Amino acid sequence: MNLRRLLAPLMLLSFALLGANANAAVIVIINNDMAGVGFNDTTPKTPEGGNPGTTLGAQRLYLFQAVAREWGALLKSNLIIRIIASFDSLPCSSGSGVLGEAGPTSFITLVPTPPSGHANTFYAEALAESLLGADGNSGAADIQASFNSSIDNGCIAAGTRFYYGVNPATPIPSGTFGLYPTVLHELGHGLGFLTLVCTDASGCGSGQPQGSLSSAGIPDIWTYFLASSTNTGLLWKDMTNAQRAAGVTSDPNLVWLGANVTADLATFAPTSAGTNGGHMRMFAPATVQPGSSVSHFSSAAVSPNLLMEPVLQSGVFNNTDLTYSLLKDIGWQVRPRDTIFADSFDAI
Ligand SMILES: [Zn+2]
Repeated sequence: MNLRRLLAPLMLLSFALLGANANAAVIVIINNDMAGVGFNDTTPKTPEGGNPGTTLGAQRLYLFQAVAREWGALLKSNLIIRIIASFDSLPCSSGSGVLGEAGPTSFITLVPTPPSGHANTFYAEALAESLLGADGNSGAADIQASFNSSIDNGCIAAGTRFYYGVNPATPIPSGTFGLYPTVLHELGHGLGFLTLVCTDASGCGSGQPQGSLSSAGIPDIWTYFLASSTNTGLLWKDMTNAQRAAGVTSDPNLVWLGANVTADLATFAPTSAGTNGGHMRMFAPATVQPGSSVSHFSSAAVSPNLLMEPVLQSGVFNNTDLTYSLLKDIGWQVRPRDTIFADSFDAI
């Protein structure tokens, strides 16, 4: 298979295979931590919120696998989706810290004849494989995830930590950070909820498809649905770099034109502040936030808040939200709604 590849995939270590319902995607968490740390941390821990693990590491792994089951119940794929995950010491200081991050290990194009989707367009690895119906990276991981082990050492404030509960009906205790919704959000990025277009003017060059660094201007699938104005309908894939760059900071004018998101606005969108001209707004603040701008729904979305806003809010997960609709727009085959986020996960 002649696939263009953008990023090098990671190697496998060990893994635990999850059970899955018929038609559901099988999502595997690959524990990439060394003995005694991260997922293998043997510090004793009392079970909480439906998480039966009796060590810190066991609770971490159980939670990741629970999130994987949630996503797997929502999506269809004939290919195993592999997530290589670890807990690492990420940036953290008093008052703020990175909770975690995740993304595709690579992006590939569908060539020469796509069974579905668009040729000569970058897709996140897991989505590309599902569209191709074939493994695109020789069994290597499709998504990489790294979460901050320092959070559990109180790096943000004394006594603060991750909350490892997995039952949305159980309130998240004060002074803790709900890891479950955070992992749900981050793995959403890994499944393709992001654009490859650069938002960093001083780095990769705002407005530039990053795939074009080595090959001429290959768009990613998001550019088929993004528009910087509700007036022209000009799509990002048809714009110049300068036009896209202007869109990066164009709040409230950056919108998603995908049919599924638009059709579901009446049910899930929120308020008029989260929409513009009958379309869902995407996050495009006047001061660019690399890593957040464009690759999230607008933070103006409320009632309900959405899983893929730049900062998780309370009140998400009362129902399957527009995240599901957007994943359909970019090509995911999905199972019925309401198999995920069926309950409230408040007070994160
Ligand atoms: Zn995010």
